[in-house]
Amino acid sequence: MRSWQKLAARPDSAMGRFLVQREHIGARRNADLAVASAARVRDVEALMASVFATSQDGILIVGADNLVAVANAAADALIGRPWLAAGDCRIERLIPDIDLATRDGRYREGLLAHADGRALPIEYAVTSVCGEDSTNHVIVLRDISERKRHEGTLRHQATHDPLTGLPNRTLLTETVEARLAAADGAGSRFALLLLDLDRFKEINDTLGHDIGDDLLCRLADRLRLQDPQFGFVSRLGGDEFALLIDPVPDQQTAQQVAEALAARIEEPFMLRDLSLGVEASIGVALFPDHAGSMKDLLRCADVAMYEAKQRRTRFATYDSHVDRNSIRHLTLTGELKRAVEDNEMRLEYQPKLCLAGFRPFTAEALLRWHHPTLGKVSPTEFIPQAEQTGLIGALTINTLGTAIRQMADWEKRGLAMSVAVNLSAQVIHDRNLPKMVDDLLCQHALAPGRLTLELTESAIMHDPEGALQVAHEVAEIGVRLSIDDFGTGYSSLAYLSRLPVRELKIDRSFVSRMLGSPTDATIVRSTIDLAHSLGMEVVGEGIDQIEILHRLVALGCDYGQGFLIARPTVPTELSRVVLDAVRRAHREWGIGTGGDAPDVRALQATAAAELIRAAAAAVGE
Ligand code: C2E
Ligand code: CA
Ligand code: CA
Repeated sequence: MRSWQKLAARPDSAMGRFLVQREHIGARRNADLAVASAARVRDVEALMASVFATSQDGILIVGADNLVAVANAAADALIGRPWLAAGDCRIERLIPDIDLATRDGRYREGLLAHADGRALPIEYAVTSVCGEDSTNHVIVLRDISERKRHEGTLRHQATHDPLTGLPNRTLLTETVEARLAAADGAGSRFALLLLDLDRFKEINDTLGHDIGDDLLCRLADRLRLQDPQFGFVSRLGGDEFALLIDPVPDQQTAQQVAEALAARIEEPFMLRDLSLGVEASIGVALFPDHAGSMKDLLRCADVAMYEAKQRRTRFATYDSHVDRNSIRHLTLTGELKRAVEDNEMRLEYQPKLCLAGFRPFTAEALLRWHHPTLGKVSPTEFIPQAEQTGLIGALTINTLGTAIRQMADWEKRGLAMSVAVNLSAQVIHDRNLPKMVDDLLCQHALAPGRLTLELTESAIMHDPEGALQVAHEVAEIGVRLSIDDFGTGYSSLAYLSRLPVRELKIDRSFVSRMLGSPTDATIVRSTIDLAHSLGMEVVGEGIDQIEILHRLVALGCDYGQGFLIARPTVPTELSRVVLDAVRRAHREWGIGTGGDAPDVRALQATAAAELIRAAAAAVGE
């Protein structure tokens, strides 16, 4: 006990007397106050009633029987009618999910049954007030529909693509993951389709981004609106879309949907007076057949899509065998730089022959990668990677150097063969190209007209004005320019006529189909006429049947190239391969001059010399 407490305990002490006195005064004052308080209590009650009545928050008082006893005006407004007029009613009818046991005063979200039948989003807090023999619940509630709307807008923005309004990758992932969680390991089958437009970049570059955007929106409409079988459609970015088809009974059905989808996309789009035909590649992956997680499903669909693009089959279903190829693809990408440095690249040459007299004309240099363990790798496998990784520049400089040196070497051996080299987009936009080509030709004292540079339409359309500039500089030197794969791009005739092009190569897809398809036959015939009227020469590539060769000769096509005439071959074999073709053409196909022409006799001599050289080398070994 402290010292003052001890003092107070003794009434005779000064402190004790003081405390007793203070108690008397307190009692008297309390009696006075009681009178004043009665008036104050009435005021306070009125004030509280007024607070209750005018509160911005709705307040409901619920009795122990769960019936609403009182509601304030704000609550009536939220409910949409005066509560008391509704007769007695249980609180659960008003707020179905309410749990009156949670009387902690914390706000929770819920729905209020509005008089007009709507479910109004609210937040509410429950507290309890204990009376003498019962407990009342006080529920304070607020309308949060505005906030919910705002949250909804934000969520929509986070889960949808602003351009097309389609769900985005986030929402697709959520949807698939929810589906996977519900499937719980087993469950029914569903399919994920990944769709990528072919050469969309070219459309953007050539026709402008506005048209590109329009095209994406129109495509989204086609996918979204017309066909419930296309299921949940989302845009993953760029020209990549994904579709969730759920459920799907089997692989065949998923493929049918992919086929219908491809057909739907191929119907021409009318965009600002422009009829635009586009194609897509679609990859199909199935749950649970191919993968069990969203990440793996996407990867499988991606592998399948890549396969469809490579094989130009419009759609492909995931195949683990192909997946091993895609591992090979990754390996190759990783090793490309080393391969260029270690000179694992070789050139093969495929002749383009003059169809009128079946005379040798040019050999196209085609890259081959001799991989130490994988063997010969096709350029269709590694050129796209070289382009993406920026290695294409170095690779092309090597190729140009090798091909021009080869031409000089053939020349020494009596074979007057020109060469053609393929150029990628990045290379044709390289301002150093003209000088480099000029230097190489001068170094070997070769006429510039002996070199042809082949460019695809899509490579040029990467940057049409830049390409025009470099193309003119190259042409001024005297080098021939050729448009490769003609007919597959989106370049305009107006633009092409500004290019100093000497040759058009009709894409082999048209040539190979020209016997069976009247449309392709017309394309081939009109390309030949068009080229001639513009003063250009024409090459038919991909000739692999004698009937096609005859048809092209009849149409006045200037040059022919294809497996029928000769396959790409190593430089030392070229003279023999060409000689073979010239002889066959004369004897079997009734074209050309046989052995009389001076260039054919020269060819014969070179081929013989090459044979002797090869034999000597073999003996030397
Ligand atoms: P491309 O320039 O259109 O070359 C013609 C391709 O068609 C060659 O394939 C050739 O072997 C093939 N071919 C020729 N005749 C026939 C035929 O009768 N039937 C069929 N089915 N195919 C035929 P390859 O050598 O695999 O080259 C593929 C593509 O790789 C080339 O297409 C070219 O775009 C690219 N490429 C090759 N070498 C180079 C290069 O040095 N630089 C660049 N940038 N691209 C290259
Ligand atoms: Ca070519
Ligand atoms: Ca070609």
